[in-house]
Amino acid sequence: MKKILCLIIMSLLLLTACTKKEKENTLDKIINRNLIIAGVKQDAGPFGHINEKGQYDGFDIDVAKYIANKLTGSEKNIKFVPVTSNTRIEAVTSGEVDMIIATMSNTESRRYIIDFSIPYYTAGQTAVVKNKSKIYSFADLKDKTTIVVMGSTSEQNLRRVIPTARIVGYSTYKEAFQALKDGKGDALSSDDTIISGFIAKNKGFRVLKGRISAEHYSIGIKQTDDKLLKETLDSIITGMKNNGTLKELKKKWSLV
Ligand code: GLU
Repeated sequence: MKKILCLIIMSLLLLTACTKKEKENTLDKIINRNLIIAGVKQDAGPFGHINEKGQYDGFDIDVAKYIANKLTGSEKNIKFVPVTSNTRIEAVTSGEVDMIIATMSNTESRRYIIDFSIPYYTAGQTAVVKNKSKIYSFADLKDKTTIVVMGSTSEQNLRRVIPTARIVGYSTYKEAFQALKDGKGDALSSDDTIISGFIAKNKGFRVLKGRISAEHYSIGIKQTDDKLLKETLDSIITGMKNNGTLKELKKKWSLV
């Protein structure tokens, strides 16, 4: 009898522990482990890239460090996990990362799967071609081959604007830009931010005039959380807007 009672009590304790763990939201997790796990890009300079010293660097990285400082008291309490446009949503829904800070646009279709903070930057979709190309506008992409990164909004926007464009997809920006250099497409379409990073480091390319979308970069978080993390991130971003931090970061990374 004593044994059975003991077993019941142990099971109850285990159940309580499990329930408590399940209830722990991402914000609690961050505070308890004193560390943020952030999914970032490693090939999308000047937003998320690896610098000459082999360290994560860029506008998104600075935003992530600022948030780490606010939540844990030090910008060093952060672990960066590389994500691509195609892997980032699963990285956050699976719990592999606490948040995604990776040139990610806050879109209606993505809001079905994850939650977003308020935007911290607005980019626009453009395209890059070789200098000698005869393509000058998006209309010229009709029946041409355009390179995009899979899982990005760029593909959907391009299909909407130029339904006859031939589209070829790559997993990473590194591969996509290499494909453009190798002549595997007539153009590469993405956000002006990411393209400006490529143009700064590569001669012989130009950007098309005009933007076909507004891309509102926001931090992606798990939807099952209560709104505590979202509210906290929103208030940190509002603070960054009001105290000039976002303006300073734009200047630091030569963004408009
Ligand atoms: N901002 C766009 C997106 O969220 C394109 C850049 C990217 O691939 O991250 O899809």
